Amino acid sequence: MSEDAAQDLEAQTSKSPENHKRKDYLHWDDYFMATSLLSAKRSKDPVTQVGACIVDSQNRIVAIGYNGFPRNCSDDVFPWSKAPKRSKKDDLLEDKKMYVVHAEANAILNTKGMSLSGTRLYTTLFPCNECAKLIIQVGISQVLYLSDKYAHKPKYLASKRMLDAVGVEYKRHIPLKKTITIDFEED
Ligand SMILES: [Zn+2]
Repeated sequence: MSEDAAQDLEAQTSKSPENHKRKDYLHWDDYFMATSLLSAKRSKDPVTQVGACIVDSQNRIVAIGYNGFPRNCSDDVFPWSKAPKRSKKDDLLEDKKMYVVHAEANAILNTKGMSLSGTRLYTTLFPCNECAKLIIQVGISQVLYLSDKYAHKPKYLASKRMLDAVGVEYKRHIPLKKTITIDFEED
């Protein structure tokens, strides 16, 4: 092969996208938030589906979780309804709040007690005060969230008060990709 032909061939192959790093790969934060969104899809809650994902400093997923009833508390027996305000005791016992384990709590519990010091938690909804307590106690150092739609409610104000007091960082994740399609039939 002449020198010119060799150079042409080299130019052709270097232009081919198959010889280069893909440009549209998923970035870590989008990947972990997408994992949280995907696990939210496991939730049976008819109104609110939340997913969470805990990641270590090496970008390894250590646990995921979504909101649901405790293990062996049947999704078909326990109530998915919300009791009206100022309800009587019997109505309150039919409120899902009494029974649901939040996504963040499930993710933490799914680590089966491993050290979570310095990990990050990705969640589709800002953590409530009860989850913030757990986040702090297990040593999670950063929370990334998609939505903070209940920011004005006391539970969420209390959550921020605790996270601020101990220096757990939190920030809204702005996705680089608006949508990610998962097609089971793609080659
Ligand atoms: Zn919570």
